[in-house]
Amino acid sequence: MNLQDAIRAIPDYPKPGIIFRDITTLLGNARAFRQAVDRLVQPYAGAKIDKVAGIEARGFILGGAVAHQISAGFVPIRKKGKLPHDTVRIAYSLEYGVDEMEVHTDSVLAGERIILVDDLIATGGTATAAVELMRKLGAVVEAACFVIDLPELGGADKLRAMDVPVRTLVAFDGH
Ligand code: AMP
Repeated sequence: MNLQDAIRAIPDYPKPGIIFRDITTLLGNARAFRQAVDRLVQPYAGAKIDKVAGIEARGFILGGAVAHQISAGFVPIRKKGKLPHDTVRIAYSLEYGVDEMEVHTDSVLAGERIILVDDLIATGGTATAAVELMRKLGAVVEAACFVIDLPELGGADKLRAMDVPVRTLVAFDGH
C-alpha cells in the first residue's frame, strides 16, 4: 500500500495554481488509513505522551485515531468562536489576511507532553501558531505529525526552528 497513491490531487482547488491534496480517499481506504496512523505514531509508541492536539478539521480525524492508538487524551484546536468554555486564542496568517484559533484553557496542564497532528503542512502558519498556543498553556510539544509535507513551502523547517521535531509520511513538490 503506497500512501501517496491513496491521496487524491485536485488541481486548481480552491483556486487556480493550488493542487489540493484530498485525504478523503486515504481515510476511506481502510488499509491506507490504518497505515497512516500506525506510521505517524510509530516513534511515540513507548513515549509518555499525555495528549494529542488536533487542528480543525482534518487534524481531528487523524489526531483522534493517533490519540486512541497511544492511549493519550485528545485536545481540539478550533477556529475561533466554536468552543463553549474559557479559551486562549492566537492569530495566525493565511495566504490572504489572518484568522484565529483557540483551545480551552483547561485542555492541557503546564508540563504535559503533547503531540500536534494535522493532515498537511504547507507554509507552517497554522502549525506554528498551534505550537505557540500549546506553549502558552505550558505544554511541552514533543512532536508535530502530518501525513503530507509540501517541503518547498518551508513549514516543517519553521517548526524545527522552534525546536519541534517534525514527522511527515509523504512529500509532494510545489504547492
Ligand atoms: P499552512 O498553514 O500554510 O501550513 O497550511 C496548512 C493548513 O492548510 C492545513 O490545515 C491543511 O489542511 C491546509 N492546506 C494547505 N495547503 C493545502 C493543500 N495544497 N491541500 C490540502 N490542504 C492544504
